[in-house]
Amino acid sequence: MRYAMRIRKQHLVHARTCVYNVNYHLVWSVKYRHPFLTTKIEERLKEVCHDFAKDKDFILHKIEVGEQDHVHVFVSGHPKIAPCYMAKMLKGISARKLFVEYPELKKMLERPFMEWQLLSRDHWVYFRRKHQKIYRSTTERGWLLMMMTMTAYQFKLAPTPEQREQIYHTLNLCRWLYNSGLEQRMIAYEKQGKCLSFYTQKKELPALKKVLPEFKGIHSQVLQNVPERLDGAYQNFFRRVKTGEKAGFPRFKGRNHYHSFTYPQSGFKIEGNFLTLSKIGKIQINRHRVMKGQVKTCQIIHKNGQFLVSFSCEINARKLKKKNQRAVGIDLGVRHLAITSDGNFHDNPKHLQQLEHKLKKKQRLVSKKKRGSNRRKKAVHQLAKLHEHIANKRKDTAHQTARNLVDAYDLLVFEDLDIQKMVKSHDYAKSIVDSAWRKLIDYTTYKAAKAGKQVLLVNPYNTTQQCSNCLEIVRKTKGERVHRCRCGYVDDRDVNAAKNILRLVLEQIA
Ligand SMILES: [Zn+2]
Repeated sequence: MRYAMRIRKQHLVHARTCVYNVNYHLVWSVKYRHPFLTTKIEERLKEVCHDFAKDKDFILHKIEVGEQDHVHVFVSGHPKIAPCYMAKMLKGISARKLFVEYPELKKMLERPFMEWQLLSRDHWVYFRRKHQKIYRSTTERGWLLMMMTMTAYQFKLAPTPEQREQIYHTLNLCRWLYNSGLEQRMIAYEKQGKCLSFYTQKKELPALKKVLPEFKGIHSQVLQNVPERLDGAYQNFFRRVKTGEKAGFPRFKGRNHYHSFTYPQSGFKIEGNFLTLSKIGKIQINRHRVMKGQVKTCQIIHKNGQFLVSFSCEINARKLKKKNQRAVGIDLGVRHLAITSDGNFHDNPKHLQQLEHKLKKKQRLVSKKKRGSNRRKKAVHQLAKLHEHIANKRKDTAHQTARNLVDAYDLLVFEDLDIQKMVKSHDYAKSIVDSAWRKLIDYTTYKAAKAGKQVLLVNPYNTTQQCSNCLEIVRKTKGERVHRCRCGYVDDRDVNAAKNILRLVLEQIA
């Protein structure tokens, strides 16, 4: 059976002192969601999985079939077993057995030999990045790790006036298609209780081109990408509902909220300082840096008056280094962005705070102007630019800090923010800090993957309170910056926490 698999949410944690969580909620679905898990096949699949889990050293807590086209699997295992190993073994064994026992399956799955995908959206111990594809899985028992990481490169474009028109035109039509697709899905659900798949919507595109010939002026893959995006928005919505986050339903996109279109495989060519786009033409491009790896997709962005292109490239990650010679625990903070267990402090340059007065000024300017006026438009544009500027600065800091960390260490251990979210309450300022933390962890993870290094996450429970020297709990208030223990150990509060974070992982790995 071919499955597209997503990691929905790691459900945590039996013992609060347990190191990194190894409970996973996997969602498998067959490519294009063919509904074929009828009763007998469903029963057999469950049996196969249970038997298999008993053989290997992981626990299958529960397996549920939803709407005959996808399966929810709840598994957990020792931290040493990579989750992709569990997933892959489960898939392999169930596919082999079911195909033999039910030969009609092969007919039901149109393209059974297509490569299955593993899409890990956000929660993954080893590989957190959205676009990482895992071709071969690993354990620490001699399996080979081959991992591809995706990196994006962004360049400025200089289109001619005609090309600009063509880009606006494409954006408008794509936006129209997106909105109609959303409407179609909503109606289908209301009237028939059906969830349209993106595959169904994609199949309707040729017919659409016949009725509305202006769509012939757009590259076919660019069009196909639109229902795919819509599907992504739906999947994200369902995920948020499941995990209990604030779940906004996918929205209709207004003129100022649809910024880009994508060539997912072909239709674009890079030659020197020119990018040739199918149906648009040869555009000058400012390639200020060299791209590494193989270019996979090309996204054209029009935002805040700028034309940009973003290429995502696939890069071979290096094999994991066998020994983690230089291990470090990293505590994330507000005063300093990152504090390492060996006592290094990485600054947090509070970009928002520095530019807050400017931001307030710009916001005031917007609110003073009359709605719909040209002056207001101008003010809104300036405000958007400033927001972008702040976001860029924040990203830049995260990139630099991540680079420094990856260069200096081989095994990097962070606290798992999702657990922290459960523990602490959030206000707005926190969520900003939070986003900087998340960026830092994400960037570090993919930079580490490229360099053959490893990032792990631990449950941060009690890491601040515990003494890293004698493990005694030493209660501290929020303002107390120094950790003072009865055993005589004195250290910075955050350094002590970072030491605890590292210790938790080293204990488990040893
Ligand atoms: Zn102590």
